[in-house]
Amino acid sequence: MKLEIIPDEFTRATSVLKEIQAHGFEAYFVGGSVRDALLNQSIHDVDIATSAYPEEIKQIFHRTIDVGIDHGTVLVLVGDEQYEITTFRTESTYQDFRRPDTVTFVRSLKEDLKRRDFTINALAMDVDGEIIDLFDGMADLKQKIIRAVGNPKERFHEDALRMMRGLRFASQLDFKIEANTLSAIEAFHRLLDKISVERIAVEFMKLLLGKNRRAALLPFIETECYLYCPGLNKFGEALFNFSDLPNRQIESESQAWALLINTLGLKETEIRVFLKSWKQSNHMIQEVQNLIYGLNKRLSEELHDKDLFDLGLDTALSVEKLLFYYGQKSKLEEVKERYLSLPIHDRKQLAVTGNDLLDYFDKKPGKWLGDMIEILEVAVVKGQIVNNKERLIGYAKNKIDEE
Ligand code: ATP
Ligand code: MG
Repeated sequence: MKLEIIPDEFTRATSVLKEIQAHGFEAYFVGGSVRDALLNQSIHDVDIATSAYPEEIKQIFHRTIDVGIDHGTVLVLVGDEQYEITTFRTESTYQDFRRPDTVTFVRSLKEDLKRRDFTINALAMDVDGEIIDLFDGMADLKQKIIRAVGNPKERFHEDALRMMRGLRFASQLDFKIEANTLSAIEAFHRLLDKISVERIAVEFMKLLLGKNRRAALLPFIETECYLYCPGLNKFGEALFNFSDLPNRQIESESQAWALLINTLGLKETEIRVFLKSWKQSNHMIQEVQNLIYGLNKRLSEELHDKDLFDLGLDTALSVEKLLFYYGQKSKLEEVKERYLSLPIHDRKQLAVTGNDLLDYFDKKPGKWLGDMIEILEVAVVKGQIVNNKERLIGYAKNKIDEE
């Protein structure tokens, strides 16, 4: 079969393939980009596989970067573009269920395609758009099926991350996991224990952000993969509830975490621990905490001006969008207008600074100063006082005199 309309991303790279061929080697497009082109979906990175060894690739192209030479990958720079070119390889004797002990470079495309995870990811395309389909990946693409290449149990035993990858493709592509592949996940879910949290987290997030997350969450729960994911093992029932939320695609990582955590019913103090166990950054944790705070408040009442100020526009709008999953209407325009009409949007816009207060009041710097700035900020945001230097200092003076 031939891909008739070849997307630009590939056309731009044909000179690279031809150059490799001109030196007597084979070269193909492989992996996700071929799959996505056949599905008429947008393509991110175009990966190239070749019979040339890394050293040979480096002799063919002038501008190269060793990005993973042990695994056979050389980055080739052509004009403004860059391509990962990986030597055909087999991976043998996985002893720790996660990484091959040895990578062996081979000259055969077939060997290379055989070590790939799923049939739909084991398609190759030549420079003319001809599809090389050695494992019936095309049929599985048509029937929307995720099927391991070869014996699924062996494949998951070699590399347990593939189980999470299978689940995330089910969500991203809205495909079903083939029965044998699914029962192999059921049989080997415990091996996820061997995989680093960081790698599981990448796949889990792609699953949550996919277009049919429910289609992946159900097998994720039923095969008990969730038991080997951080912080989820007590939450089988809650995860079912999570999968029952309206199945609209989630927009961002922080929204996905917030919806999940809210459904798990974690207490405020537990949120940080949970997200830390997933190795999330402090920045992400803060954003998720803000979203959950805003969401729960918004589910019972309107957000106050001070909440809008504290959350900022983007987070406040994000909270509105989450209401959909709870059967409520979001008021994006209204929130935006209210936010924009706040007297100030940042502490820096307050008409007095700490130094102004120190100049005026004959007091040493200390806790009182931060507290006072906070009091003034709240009063201005709530519209209790106008943002004017004299008025703010007068207000502060009254507060101090009251003490
Ligand atoms: P995405 O669109 O998310 O990038 P992808 O299929 O390109 O999806 P990558 O992680 O970029 O996924 O991997 C590129 C290709 O490498 C895959 O299509 C697959 O053929 C192969 N691959 C990646 N990870 C594995 C793995 N753990 N086991 C076997 N093959 C893998
Ligand atoms: Mg990819």
